[in-house]
This record gives sequence, structure tokens and C-alpha cells, in this order.
Amino acid sequence: MTPAELTGRNALARLGTLEKGDLRARYPFPFLTVPMEKVARFCATSGTTGLPVMFGYTERDIRELLPSQMTRLLRAAGVEPGERVYQGYGYGLWVGGVVMDWALLAYGCTNFGIGPGRAEAVVQWLRDHAYTVCTMSPLWLMTLVNAAKAQGIDPKRDWKLRLGVFGGQSVSAAFRDELEAAMPEGFVAQNIYGSTESGGPNHGISCPYSHDADEMHLINEDTILTEILDPATLDPVGPGGTGEIVFTTLEREASPVVRWRTRDLVKLSENPYGCKCGRQAFPLIGRIIGRSDDMLKVRGSMVYPSQIEDCIASLPATVNEAWQIYIDREDRILEEMAVAVERRMDAVTTDDDVRDALERAIRSRLGIRVHVEVHPEGTLPRYEAKAVRVILRSGKAGPE
Ligand SMILES: [Zn+2]
Repeated sequence: MTPAELTGRNALARLGTLEKGDLRARYPFPFLTVPMEKVARFCATSGTTGLPVMFGYTERDIRELLPSQMTRLLRAAGVEPGERVYQGYGYGLWVGGVVMDWALLAYGCTNFGIGPGRAEAVVQWLRDHAYTVCTMSPLWLMTLVNAAKAQGIDPKRDWKLRLGVFGGQSVSAAFRDELEAAMPEGFVAQNIYGSTESGGPNHGISCPYSHDADEMHLINEDTILTEILDPATLDPVGPGGTGEIVFTTLEREASPVVRWRTRDLVKLSENPYGCKCGRQAFPLIGRIIGRSDDMLKVRGSMVYPSQIEDCIASLPATVNEAWQIYIDREDRILEEMAVAVERRMDAVTTDDDVRDALERAIRSRLGIRVHVEVHPEGTLPRYEAKAVRVILRSGKAGPE
């Protein structure tokens, strides 16, 4: 393919896609497009194999590209230059903390970049230093809220935070609402999205006008060209459709990617270019729904484990952290599916009640029938790190 053949966005469809296996096969410095001495810094994905995949930044990436991407994002979220920021994204291998440092420097904020941890001290600093903005995982802020209350500090009264930029972990809109309610009056939680492959948390951000609909702008569409594609056919989805985020970095010098498959699934907004903030070049997507690797197809309906989790969490008698989905085909195209849950020891309902209620909830929300198995509390597996929710149970699997 020659540059002249890249006549428009659709021309990208003629190129292949990139995925994790392509990077691993080129360990340890995949697709480094500049000489090593031009690489000013590396970040890495941790990877389940334990081998980090290294992504480089040139001096220009650090001094020009990321600052221009990130300051645009901070502006869209509603951060003002000069604000005091508690930066709580992690450092180390991970891209989040260091890129947020570059961003806040370029934007003119006063940054206390300490990452997560030290909860007992941080809850006091949030009061004494009067930070107005925080950047972190939403789960970490919830931990801080609880730590504050344990020390007699009331976040609503004693903290000055008015805005949080939350990423690293997708949580439900209900969790976001709960977080906002625990914070000072008027506090807004904005969602941010990005990845090591895109260069940092530089890809998506919600704005004051898209916040209520829980949608984010693809805010750097001119430097991170994004396609939302059906994961099976790789055809683009239309407004309102659900697909995988696939992107091409147009300006990154050291470690660019072409059509990188994130496996992250989102719904493209019903009205992607209609945000009232006026950023009409930057389409809107919903919250990350799950990973395409996790998708199941039950009698033609797409189902994600996170949707089953929502149904389980809606019932008071079930244990929220212990549940499984059992399937009988490796290709995940199913006629039937079984869901195993635990009945809480203190629940007043019977196993039959729990089974009926969950089957009804799943049928009414997802339109599919499943078999629910109810077990006593404490009998299903617990997972210390990432939970394995989908388990293949029959012999039709073929060789692993
Ligand atoms: Zn907007």
C-alpha cells in the first residue's frame, strides 16, 4: 500500500489489524520506529505472561504530542489551569501517572503527583492542601472516602474537590453516582479512557454535557484515528451500535500502532456528533462495556459477563463476588448457558426463590433463558486477582 492509496478513513479497511500476539512475537521492543537512542522514555503493559511489552516515547512525543492531546482532554473535562490537583494514578511501569504529570505541567496546574497509597495521610492532605481536582481510579477514591470517615473527616464538608477524572477501571453509572454523592456538593466525576498503546489516558473523556448520558468524546480523533468495528466482521458499526475500539496513532514517533485491536467494547452514541458542548469533530462513545474476548452469543443474542453480574447484583439474596458462567462450546456460540450463584447464608429466601428470581431478571433484561444453579455461600471459587467468570464445562472443546 502506498500513501496515495490512503484516500480516506475507509481505506484503512484494506490494512490488517494488530493485536497482542503481534506485539509479543516482537518482544521486547515491538514496532520501534526510531533508533533506540531517540527513545527518551519507555512505559510498558504488564501483560499476563509477566513479560512487559515496551512502548517508547521520543522527546517530541513527550514534549509536544502528549501535552497537546492531554491538555485538550483536561479542558474538555472542565479542569482549569491553576487548579491544585491530587494526581492518584499509579507510576512505575504504568503509563497513567507519568502521562498525567506531563499533562498537568503543560496545562498549568499545580500537581501533587503521589499516586495511590498512603490513604491515612492523603485524606488529611485533601483537607489541608485544598485540592480541587483529583485524577485516579474510582475505586481508590471510594477507599479514601471510607478512610476519611474512619478518621472523623467528612469529605462533603472538609474537602474542596469539585472535579475528578477517573480511569483505569470501568465502573457502573450507579457507582459513579454513589461516588458523587459522597463528595462536596456539585462534585462531578468525569470518565477518561486510554491505553499504553494509544500513549496514555489520552483517548476518551466525558465533558460537562455528555456526563449525564455517560458518554465520552474521542477527543484526539485527529491524532488517534478510531474505528468502532463489529468484532466478528470488522465492519464499522453505525450510531447506537456496539463494537470494538480499533485505533491508529497518526503522530506518535517511537511506537505507533496501525489498527490496534483494543478488545474494548463500546456503544457508539445514537447521536455521535451532537454534543451540546460543540465539539462536533469528536464523536461520542459510551462507557466501556467489556472485552470482546468475553462476549458470548446465546441463541443469537450478544451477552457479556458484566451484564450477568449486574443481574446478580440486583438481587439481595445472592453473594456478589462469587459466581460463574458455564458454557459448553469453546466458540462461545451457545444454545444454552448455566449461571451458578451462591445464596447468602443470612438470606430468608429459599434456593428455589433465588433461582426463579435470577432467571426472571436475566430473561427480562437480556432476553435470554439460562439455567441458574444455586449453591450455599462459600462453595464457589474466589479469585485473588482477575476473576475467571466463564468456564467451559463439556467435552466439545477440542485440544487446548
Ligand atoms: Zn461534549
